[in-house]
Amino acid sequence: MIWDLHCHLNGVEGRTPDEKIVRMLEYADRMNVGKLVFYMGWPFLADPSPDELRSQNDQVLQAISHWSDRALGFAYVSARYVDESLAEIERCITNGPMVGIKLWIAAKCADEQIDPIIKRCSELKVAIFQHTWIKATGNEPGESSPDDLIRLATRHPGVPLICGHTGGDWEKGIRIVRPFEQISVDTGGFDPTSGMVEMAVRELGADRVIYGSDVSGRSFGSQLAKVQGALIPDDAKRKILGGNLKRMLTPILKAKGVSV
Ligand SMILES: [Zn+2]
Repeated sequence: MIWDLHCHLNGVEGRTPDEKIVRMLEYADRMNVGKLVFYMGWPFLADPSPDELRSQNDQVLQAISHWSDRALGFAYVSARYVDESLAEIERCITNGPMVGIKLWIAAKCADEQIDPIIKRCSELKVAIFQHTWIKATGNEPGESSPDDLIRLATRHPGVPLICGHTGGDWEKGIRIVRPFEQISVDTGGFDPTSGMVEMAVRELGADRVIYGSDVSGRSFGSQLAKVQGALIPDDAKRKILGGNLKRMLTPILKAKGVSV
């Protein structure tokens, strides 16, 4: 079964979370994507307030509420608001159905202010997804690069971290995270350039590569093609398309009594 690490409700047709997820699952069905991880609602906000984080998490909670067999959720949190983010982790994960967190571009993960969030997620064994990019034109003020992520990893040895978009500029991103066994890379959200997945498997090993699409900013088809068209063994494809994410989420799913 294909598991997609990286899905958004923003940009898909529908007026409500329920309408949007139904449409998204129709698209997923065409491509045999069985499980989808959702985070962030709408609109896109570079620096959401605590109220906006809560309302976007509410949108995802509503969307996944009728689809527990298909859809998982990560709580959208921000290192700009640590106390409020810790409260969201309790609300959405400890006392709710979510199984990970999503960190976007409000604050760099290299900064130590984020540490209480990472520590709590490590205790709960939840997935930690950090957007990263290396922009030729320069990153946004709070936008992390893979270099920021390895600083975070250095402060939290052994805590599994996901390098969102493999840094966008993936040839650099793969090299930067390579020495950090705790870091996996997300294949979603950049152009489906031939050779990316091959390089990631060669340099990191198939166990550290996780398929994500970044729908609806990208299509399932273009992002699945990176993996399905890669010149790698079938066993590596199975890990990337589902096995690795399933393994990462199994402890928290089991703790919630969800059979995997
Ligand atoms: Zn995304």
